[in-house]
Amino acid sequence: MNINHFGTLYIVATPIGNLRDMSLRAIDILKTVNCIAAEDTRHSKSLLQHYMINTPMFALHQHNEREKSTALLERLQQGDSIALISDAGTPLISDPGYFLVREARVAGITIVPIPGACAAITALSASGLATDRFSFEGFLPAKTKQRVQSLETLRTEARTMVFYEAPHRVLDTLEDMQKVFGEKRQVVLARELTKLYETIRSAALDELVEWVKNDDNQQRGEIVIMVEGANSAVPESAEIVSAENILKILMNELPLKQAVDLAAKISGLRKNELYQRALELK
Ligand code: SAM
Repeated sequence: MNINHFGTLYIVATPIGNLRDMSLRAIDILKTVNCIAAEDTRHSKSLLQHYMINTPMFALHQHNEREKSTALLERLQQGDSIALISDAGTPLISDPGYFLVREARVAGITIVPIPGACAAITALSASGLATDRFSFEGFLPAKTKQRVQSLETLRTEARTMVFYEAPHRVLDTLEDMQKVFGEKRQVVLARELTKLYETIRSAALDELVEWVKNDDNQQRGEIVIMVEGANSAVPESAEIVSAENILKILMNELPLKQAVDLAAKISGLRKNELYQRALELK
C-alpha cells in the first residue's frame, strides 16, 4: 500500500501474437489506470479495442522516453496511476521503459509488474536447451563486423544464450554464429511464437543454416535464436578421443546405429555428434 499520495506505475505485459495471451489482471489494470503509456499507440489500439479498454493512451517510445518521463513522474506524484505497455510482450525487455522505471524508483513511486508473455521465456520453455541458467543477449549489432565481435565474446559462454533477431538478418547472423561457435553447436530457432505459423526447429548450426537458406519462409516474421552453452556443446578433446575409441571398437562388432547408441551412453556425448563421427570413421 502507498504511504504517500503518489499513484502507481504498472508495467504490464501484453501478448506476443495471440491476443488471448493477455492476463485478466492486465485487462483490469489497463481499464482502471488514469492513462496508458504505449510504445506505439496505433499498434496497441487494436489490443485495447479487443478488450474494450477505453483508457486514454499516449506514446512513450525510445525517442521521447527521457522527455516524456519527467511529465509522467509529475503525474504519478500528483496521484495518477499509469500503465506502461510495449508493442508486444514484457516492457523493458528489448523495449522502452528503463529510464522511466529507474527514475520512478528513485522518486519513491510504487512500481507494480503485471507478468505475461515474453518471447525469450516462451521460446526457452519449448527449446529443449538447458534452462537452469541462461543469458539473455537481446539484439546483436546489425553490422557484420560488430556482430562477429559480440559473438566472439560469447564463444566460451557456458549458459544457453538467447538472442532476438530481425527476419532480414537471421541468415547472416546464423552464418556468423556458425563461424564463431562451430558448425556442430546446437541451436533452436523459434519463429512466430503463439501465431499461425509458429515454428520451432532444433538442429546443429550447419544444418539450420542450410534449412533457413533454402526456405525463404524461415526468414520472415519474428524470431528468437537460442544457442546451446559452450561446455555442453564442446566436450574436452580428451573426452572426444576416448569416445572415438569406444565408437571404433563397437563399430567393429555392432551395426552403426547400435554402436552409436551404446557409445553415447558410455561417453555421455550426444548421439548426433557421435553419429557424425561414426560416418566419418566408416
Ligand atoms: N518485449 C518483447 C518481449 O517481451 O519478448 C520483445 C520486444 S523486441 C522489440 C521484439 C523482438 O522479440 C522480435 O524482433 C523477436 O526477436 C522477438 N519476438 C517478439 N514476438 C515474437 C514472436 N511472436 N515470436 C518470436 N519472436 C518474437
